[in-house]
Amino acid sequence: MNQNKAEIIAVGTELLLGQIANTNAQWISEQLALYGLNVFYHGVVGDNLTRVKDTFALANERSDVVIVTGGLGPTDDDLTREAFQLISGFNMIEHKPSMEKIEAFFAKHHSIMTPNNRKQARVFEEAIVVNNKVGMAPGMLVHYNDTIWIFLPGVPREMKAMMLEEVLPILRKELQLSEIIKSYVLRFIGIGESKLEHELKEIIDQQDNPTIAPLAQTNGVIIRLTVKAKEEEEAIIKLEQTKEKILAKVGKYYVGMNDETVEKAIINRLRMLNYTIASAESVTGGKFIEKIISVSGASDVCIGSIVCYDKSLKRDILHVSDEILESHGTVSSECALEMSKNVAHKLSSNVGISFTGVAGPNSVEGKPVGTVYISVYIKNKNHLVERFEFTGDRNGIRQRAVQKGFEILLNLLK
Ligand code: ATP
Ligand code: MG
Repeated sequence: MNQNKAEIIAVGTELLLGQIANTNAQWISEQLALYGLNVFYHGVVGDNLTRVKDTFALANERSDVVIVTGGLGPTDDDLTREAFQLISGFNMIEHKPSMEKIEAFFAKHHSIMTPNNRKQARVFEEAIVVNNKVGMAPGMLVHYNDTIWIFLPGVPREMKAMMLEEVLPILRKELQLSEIIKSYVLRFIGIGESKLEHELKEIIDQQDNPTIAPLAQTNGVIIRLTVKAKEEEEAIIKLEQTKEKILAKVGKYYVGMNDETVEKAIINRLRMLNYTIASAESVTGGKFIEKIISVSGASDVCIGSIVCYDKSLKRDILHVSDEILESHGTVSSECALEMSKNVAHKLSSNVGISFTGVAGPNSVEGKPVGTVYISVYIKNKNHLVERFEFTGDRNGIRQRAVQKGFEILLNLLK
């Protein structure tokens, strides 16, 4: 038996109608690829008993591992079990722990359980039950005619948890998939993709395990390191060695690893230094603070923001002097500096950051579109103002300004 032919079948009419995309197949394929398991077919079939049955029969002939998502729920159109039963003749029994969970759910929510909810708890007698910690319907793994069949709910959150926690480890064992694949994502800011690639050319050329793949993103550049190894430990050692080599070259642009985005890195630094931050935002309109606040735990360090778009607010709320506003203008380094200082004073933070500029379409005060001043003020320490000429449309310029603000701030806090 060739254990390496896998097939993924998604059951659901809404997929055929184009109402949802088959992201389950995409995600599962990605996971199986990591384990070196080859996916030969993706299939989608509507909620129709005969067609689901026929699809399953074909898969049973040609594949060694079949993963089915969807159609395990309580409603009449959920008929994955019934279709497979027509082929296999397997007996179905009620899975007690799942049934108890469903009953407990209805009791807790003080609602009446309709009889069809019992349906969800039925499993094939010979199946290994895959627990669903997120939702109701249990999954199943069952052997039939030399093929391993796996049935999972359609809801992506449930399916993913079950794949990661139970199905993949079982498959790895049963199919003796010895190779494991592990990735690191290294995040950089303040360096473009081509410069990064240039700096690392030698390392990239010499290296094939881990592979090194730089990738430009809207918020910086990432390098994805992907290693194949027999053991997790060996994988980590190889990744760490390569990471070290890379950071020796471009460490000054390094932000963090995996989900440590620049916003998170900034918040961590602020917390370490016992600093709080506030922003005064004209051209960015609150985009900077929005990103900071998106990070959980931001409340430890983030005080807030004053969105001072109109000149009168810069004067009346942020107390930028008439002298500065009249002689230098609102788009000036003097105004930016006053904004960052004054927002820190007004909101009692240690750090103030400000953005003032011209996002377009028209120039302002004689300054061309794309001109942005960013100032950072750190109480009793230092302050700086920088001028930038960003390209792009209005929102592109605003986005780049926020990104640059993160970069400046991170470097100052380093
Ligand atoms: P439930 O127990 O919630 O009824 P189920 O196993 O019956 O789950 P479906 O009813 O087929 O699964 O799908 C539930 C929801 O999961 C769908 O409305 C859809 O949002 C999502 N979903 C289903 N299949 C896919 C898929 N292949 N890719 C992405 N999302 C999917
Ligand atoms: Mg359903």
